[in-house]
Amino acid sequence: MSAEKLSFQAEVSRLLDIVVNSLYSEKEIFLRELISNASDACDKLRYLALTEPALLGEDAELAITISLDKAARTITVADNGIGMNRDELVANLGTIARSGTAAFVGEMSGDAKKDSNLIGQFGVGFYSAFMVAREVEVLTRKAGEDAAWLWTSDGQGDYTVAASEKAARGTIITLRLRDGMDDYLEADRLKQIVRRYSDHIAIPIKFLEDGKLETANRASALWTRSKSEIKPEDYKEFYHHVSHAFDDPAETIHWRAEGIIEYTGLLFIPGSRPFDLFHPERKNRVKLYVRRVFITDDCQELVPEYLRFLRGVIDSEDLPLNVSREMLQSSPVVQKMRQGIVKRVLGDLEKKAEKDAEGYAAFWENFGPVLKEGLYSEHGNERDSLLKLARFRSTHGDGQGDGLVSLADYVGRMKEGQDTIFYITGEDASALLASPQLEGFKAKGVEVLLLTDPIDEFWVPAIGQFDGKNFKSVTRGGSDLSKVKVEDKPEDEKQDEAADKDGDIGSLVALLKLALKDEVKDVRASERLTDSAVCLVADDGDMDMHLERLLRQHKQ
Ligand code: ADP
Ligand code: MG
Repeated sequence: MSAEKLSFQAEVSRLLDIVVNSLYSEKEIFLRELISNASDACDKLRYLALTEPALLGEDAELAITISLDKAARTITVADNGIGMNRDELVANLGTIARSGTAAFVGEMSGDAKKDSNLIGQFGVGFYSAFMVAREVEVLTRKAGEDAAWLWTSDGQGDYTVAASEKAARGTIITLRLRDGMDDYLEADRLKQIVRRYSDHIAIPIKFLEDGKLETANRASALWTRSKSEIKPEDYKEFYHHVSHAFDDPAETIHWRAEGIIEYTGLLFIPGSRPFDLFHPERKNRVKLYVRRVFITDDCQELVPEYLRFLRGVIDSEDLPLNVSREMLQSSPVVQKMRQGIVKRVLGDLEKKAEKDAEGYAAFWENFGPVLKEGLYSEHGNERDSLLKLARFRSTHGDGQGDGLVSLADYVGRMKEGQDTIFYITGEDASALLASPQLEGFKAKGVEVLLLTDPIDEFWVPAIGQFDGKNFKSVTRGGSDLSKVKVEDKPEDEKQDEAADKDGDIGSLVALLKLALKDEVKDVRASERLTDSAVCLVADDGDMDMHLERLLRQHKQ
């Protein structure tokens, strides 16, 4: 059968163009990417083989093998993992399926310098091979199938796929190096790259040299090693591998739970927001292993949605290796691990908030809106812990809404006679600060929380109270400030105000009611204004004004 010529999806062509022309200096990461894929392929096979041992057959020792041919100027990375069939080849190496890479392409500017920085930040997976290779060949055979396929491309817009021969399952990737890349034809250089980026890979990475095989990595799962043996760089590289992200982790949480159930957790809080954070499916991507064997990265019972930004691994000692998806959904072991994960992560965040206010504020900027979803969805202790962790902008301090306050801070500053936590919702803190609704509160020195996340419209009414104090929106009627004591106003001024209210104001209100008729529900004199003459408020039982606006935008 002759080779079939196919075109890359337009986004891939664009990506390849940038990859090839990029000034990105760390071209060596191509090897990390190929090894990472080979390791994933072995993980997938090992999982399938749990229920179908025949897939492993005689070839049960999973490994990655790297070899060099100086004369031909080629590097080969081979694995005996899951392999790909024809359709998978075309889908995986001809289109962009990964959200991170798609986002990368979206952010490309066409400016080689800027785009090179982005490559370092996002990683471009398989396509990074074209940074060093003028031609790439992928020979692959899917486990359990007989047909083998050869994919070839020079990265210039199209690729070919042809039926081929391969004795055993797995994938062999051959890179024909560009001029000037001779550096990578030295085995020592490649081994150095493996140790630098891929030492945490749990599968042996072997070098074939003069007919002999030598293992270049430690080939033990990073999370099983003792903390004292693990360097910060090891954690960072492992984070890159499990998360397919290339920022620095903001927090690394590595622990071993022993007792009724046993498991090891190695979780990371990313340093920046993952691209799919607000995708509607709100999935977590934490990988579940059972005694070092990868099971799934789609166990939604393991981590609550409000912690879906976590990346990393949970390795259970208690689950059976042949655990099915249905078993996971109702497993008490998974439930217990979920509780343990929540307790551990929220506990660490609480410590961080105490010890490192600045670092915590940066975390809150990235993930606060996600954590707040838990205020709505969870109850009991979990909700209480989240209330402790929540931070808000407020009118306190410089009055600019800079800096974050906790609910405990707020309650500690409440004025004499104040029994309510006041808040205002809207899209942006500086616009809220200019709102006439706040004038009376500012004048009386009463703090108001500025809530700017859409989720705030939901959890505040759901919770209703904190520390026995009701939440109340300042845009509602009945946000009564008269009980709050004013600190230092001369007596005669107060008398003037009282006279005003009963006399002139009364007739003005009557006049306004007449003029506005059905346009408004009611007209009231209020203490909430000092400079502005009037403002709109929602009635006590009615929908909050910002929520009404939000829903109208979404045509509800
Ligand atoms: P990612 O690894 O983030 O999914 P890549 O660009 O690195 O993105 O790889 C794209 C896809 O190609 C992988 O998800 C996988 O399905 C497939 N793939 C790449 N290398 C291999 C391999 N050695 N064995 C099997 N599948 C592979
Ligand atoms: Mg990859």
